[in-house]
Amino acid sequence: MNNFREQNPSKREIDKVVSKYQNHKSDLKIDFNNRCGYCDDHATWRSSFYEIDHFVPKQYLSGKEITDYGNLVYSCRYCNNSKRAKWPTGDKNNPNDGKAGFEKPWTSDYSNIFRRDDKGRIVSDSDLGNWMIKNLNLGLKRHSIIWQLDKLKSVVEQIKTHYESKESIDPKIEFLLEYIKLNEMLRDNI
Ligand SMILES: [Zn+2]
Repeated sequence: MNNFREQNPSKREIDKVVSKYQNHKSDLKIDFNNRCGYCDDHATWRSSFYEIDHFVPKQYLSGKEITDYGNLVYSCRYCNNSKRAKWPTGDKNNPNDGKAGFEKPWTSDYSNIFRRDDKGRIVSDSDLGNWMIKNLNLGLKRHSIIWQLDKLKSVVEQIKTHYESKESIDPKIEFLLEYIKLNEMLRDNI
């Protein structure tokens, strides 16, 4: 696996019949590790609640297919709004023709299409990857910023662990730890 994301979503086979596709949201959140299936942004850094994308757009589906868990993707607003009903093959059984269209975002094939440059920007060496970057707007600056924040977060965790075990610490560090704690509370509880 390349460096596009640390973990692939592990999508369970859920055949529970639901009246609304939105009823699958909590399971999608778990299976997609609380990240957008397309850009891998963690919901921690969201500026709005995450949404549910129909991988094969609704207009190609009928009846129970609309609520079929297997076709749903946990998605940020940016990717969902960019994808909309795009489906260039016009065939619900064929997501792409090798050059245009989509790859299923919960697969390792999807991860392998992309990689990150040194600033965390999503890049690809394939036609299909570049088609998706353009059509999902994966070049948005927020995606590389969030990738960098994810990396910094693990360093902050180490700093926190280091100082939390100390009996007396510099008041400036205490302020920093408090700042981090309050930010985390805000992010985790809304
Ligand atoms: Zn996204």
